[in-house]
Amino acid sequence: MAMPSLPLAPPFRLRARVLTPLAAGGTRYFADGAVHVDPHGRISRVADWAEASEPEASEPEVDAMTRIRDYDVRPWLVLPGLVDLHTHIPQLPNAGVGAGLDLLTWLEQYTFPLERRFDAAAAERLGPLAMRAFSAAGTTTVAAYASADPDATEVLLQSAEAHGIRAVIGLVLMGRTVGDEHGGAASPDEDAGLRASAELAARWHGRDEGRLRYAFTPRFALSCSGQVLRASARLAAETGSYWQTHLSEDPRELDEVRRAFPEARDYLDVYDRAGALGPGGPSALFAHAIHLSDREIERLAESGAGVAHCPASNLFLPSGIMPLARYLEAGIPVGLGSDISGGPGPSIFEVMRVGAYAQHALQIVGGDPRPVLDPLGWLRLGTLGGAAALGLADTIGSLEPGREADMIAIDASLTEPLPGAGSADEPAEIVSRLIFRTHPQMVRGAWVRGRLLPA
Ligand SMILES: [Zn+2]
Repeated sequence: MAMPSLPLAPPFRLRARVLTPLAAGGTRYFADGAVHVDPHGRISRVADWAEASEPEASEPEVDAMTRIRDYDVRPWLVLPGLVDLHTHIPQLPNAGVGAGLDLLTWLEQYTFPLERRFDAAAAERLGPLAMRAFSAAGTTTVAAYASADPDATEVLLQSAEAHGIRAVIGLVLMGRTVGDEHGGAASPDEDAGLRASAELAARWHGRDEGRLRYAFTPRFALSCSGQVLRASARLAAETGSYWQTHLSEDPRELDEVRRAFPEARDYLDVYDRAGALGPGGPSALFAHAIHLSDREIERLAESGAGVAHCPASNLFLPSGIMPLARYLEAGIPVGLGSDISGGPGPSIFEVMRVGAYAQHALQIVGGDPRPVLDPLGWLRLGTLGGAAALGLADTIGSLEPGREADMIAIDASLTEPLPGAGSADEPAEIVSRLIFRTHPQMVRGAWVRGRLLPA
């Protein structure tokens, strides 16, 4: 079959199978649908094609010179773009190796050596490829850690700017190692990192009308002094930037945190004492958050901070299974993260699959009676869930009028059980196969604000 041609830039009307979670709850599916994208890259209409091909009174008159072009990509499926809430760009070359190690050993053996070499030249080579790898997997928004090198971080932000993906990126703040004293002053490395972070935030946070954003990024409690945690949280709040870190990933890590921060009630309290949870705190994003006490769950829910759930990473490194249903019940904003290279690849569909298996295991072995998400629930988590955790639930995450046109086109026939066996035509079945029979080439196009991302 010939590949349908894809719109490069707005405005346009896309004819496709259209499936989207709705912000108000539920899902909409059009077997023959239309998405109208206006000249500013916003969705102006989503409807049945037959109905949508009639001009609507509320739509602006378009003269012959700027006639909006129609693109027919049927039988491809159009979904909102996926949100990857947590990943490490410098670690892409390690993706798929290191399974089974505990977190702290894995960091020492695989991660720190790779990240220490990640300078501006390495970022020039890897940055453009990394952005394409994310969008080829269906990710249109990525929240990522760079390395501890300010120039490399600058280059990665430039790569995201040039590629067109929506991105939140931060310079990794770290200066301490396991076994150091943690309570007190910042190390010289941390001081330099804080200054560089403030400069990067001033240059990048909010660039291109908010497509690019900055995150102050203290790696995790054990690599930071108390002072750098406090100063980064304050700077993030002052500049309106995000503040991202790791929380409660691995049992040995938890023991070390207890030893290093004896004054804290629990792991979350280390960050709370640093001012990262408000009131008056920054928009905080915590990766993993697996082994939380009842108190931590309550405090997290109260604070409104987001959690990046990274199940593929949490079983690749044997860290644990996050009690997802419990957090959702508590009202914590949860999205999904690939956590490369703790996780083996960028596909959020694959993250959904491992997440579903892990939650089934929690039900069987852990005796958790709460229901596990169905496929449409996982799709919601990977789109609107991630958007909400970033405070962008009104801007992206679903295909609804007024939102920015961040979306993907998928050839779902690649997920059929056998060639020619027939496509599913019921939304839950379609999404179930995208998750459980993910094909590496199934994402055929990805747009941010209606601009096609380079594949
Ligand atoms: Zn991580």
